[in-house]
Amino acid sequence: MVELLACPECQSEEVTLITETEYFANTGDLFCHSVKPHDANSKASCFPCGWTGKHNQLLNYGKSFFGKKS
Ligand SMILES: [Zn+2]
Repeated sequence: MVELLACPECQSEEVTLITETEYFANTGDLFCHSVKPHDANSKASCFPCGWTGKHNQLLNYGKSFFGKKS
């Protein structure tokens, strides 16, 4: 069963995942080593309470469709 990711502080499901993309500072070329939303270490934040942390700290990590461990 798929469960929703939720904030560990307030249990809200209004949580977001933040991607990081790196570019070479001098050329502007894309550096492929970026953090993607499904990565365990992508940054997560919660709208209602302002909590910030990592994707794998969210409640139900590994059980939700989006955070499913492969
Ligand atoms: Zn919260």
